[in-house]
Amino acid sequence: ESVVNRIAAGEIIQTPSSALKELIENSLDAHSRNIQITVKSGGTKYLQISDNGTGILRENLPILCERFSTSKLQNYSDLQSINTYGFRGEALASISLVSRLSIQTKTRDQECAFKVKYENGAITEGPTLVAGNQGTIISIEDIFYNNPIRLKTLSLPSEEFQRIFEVTSKYAIHNHQVSFSLKKFNENNSIKTLPSDSPVNIIRTIYGNEVANSLIDINCADTKLKFEMSGFISNGEYSGKKRHFLCFINHRLVESKSIKKAIFDEVYVKILPNSSHPFIYISLEMDPKNIDVNVSPTKHEVNFLNEELIVSKIRETVEEKLLALRE
Ligand code: ADP
Ligand code: MG
Repeated sequence: ESVVNRIAAGEIIQTPSSALKELIENSLDAHSRNIQITVKSGGTKYLQISDNGTGILRENLPILCERFSTSKLQNYSDLQSINTYGFRGEALASISLVSRLSIQTKTRDQECAFKVKYENGAITEGPTLVAGNQGTIISIEDIFYNNPIRLKTLSLPSEEFQRIFEVTSKYAIHNHQVSFSLKKFNENNSIKTLPSDSPVNIIRTIYGNEVANSLIDINCADTKLKFEMSGFISNGEYSGKKRHFLCFINHRLVESKSIKKAIFDEVYVKILPNSSHPFIYISLEMDPKNIDVNVSPTKHEVNFLNEELIVSKIRETVEEKLLALRE
C-alpha cells in the first residue's frame, strides 16, 4: 500500500514548483496576506513558504499528513460548492511521502507555535513548543530523496527555479491584494518582492514596462452560460520572446487547452501574425457545479460545462477588442 501511495504522491508532486503551487493555495485558503518563499537549488534541496494565515490547530497536527486529511470538505455535497483551493487532503500527505517535511504553525488563540516533522505521512519529531508568530511555515527538504529515478527527471536548479518564479508570479498577479516575496536561501536580497498593488503594476514589476504598457482589459459575461471573464491582454503591437498564458478558473491556476488554442491560434496568430507571442491573463468565474476539477490529480487541466460555447464567446471578445484597436 505504501508503494501505491508513493506512486500517487509522485503524480501530484512532480517538481518543486508543483509542491509550491499546492502550498501557495493552502496559504491563500488560510486567508494569508503575506506569503514569503525561500528556495535553495531551485527548490530541489530546500523550499520554504511562510505565511501569516490562520495557522493549524494543535489537535490537527497528528493527522495532518494522512491521506485525505482535510479541514475543507465536511461531506460529499460540499464537493458541489467548493470555494477553497484544496479539498482532497492530498498535498501535504504527498509531500511527506516524497521529502522531509517540517511545519511550524500558530493560530491566533494559541500562546506559542508548534513545530513538527513528518516523513511518510507520520510525525517523526514533535509537536515541540517554539516561539513564533501567527501563521504557518512549511519547509520541504531533499525532495525525492527516496526516489532516485524521479530525482533524475528534475531539471537543472536554474530551470526549476524559473518554474517556481513563474508559479509565484502568476499567483501574485491574480491575488494582487496579497504580498508575495521570493528569495534564494542565504542571500539577503529578494529576487522579487511583490507588495499588494494593482494587477497591471504587479505585471510591470515582474515582466517589465513593455508588457505592462501594452495591456488592455477584457471583460465579458453571459448569464445564460453562467460565466464571467475579466483580465488583461497585450495589444497587437506587442510580441515578446515567449507566450505568457495565465488562466485562472474560480481562482485556481489551470491549464485549458481549448482556451489557449482559441486565443493564441485562432486570434493572435490568425489576425495579428506579428504579435504571435502575446501576454494573456484571464480570470474566469463560473458556477462550481459546472466545473470538473477531477480530470487530473494535479487539478491543472480543467473541463467545464458548455466549454465550446464559453470558449467561442471568449474568442469573440478578444478578437473584437483587438480589431477595434486597429481602427
Ligand atoms: P487540502 O488543501 O486539500 O485540504 P492539504 O494536504 O493541502 O489538503 O492540506 C491539509 C490541511 O492542512 C488543510 O485542509 C488545512 O486544514 C491545513 N493546512 C495546510 N496548509 C495550511 C496553511 N498554510 N495554513 C493553515 N492551514 C493549513
Ligand atoms: Mg491544499
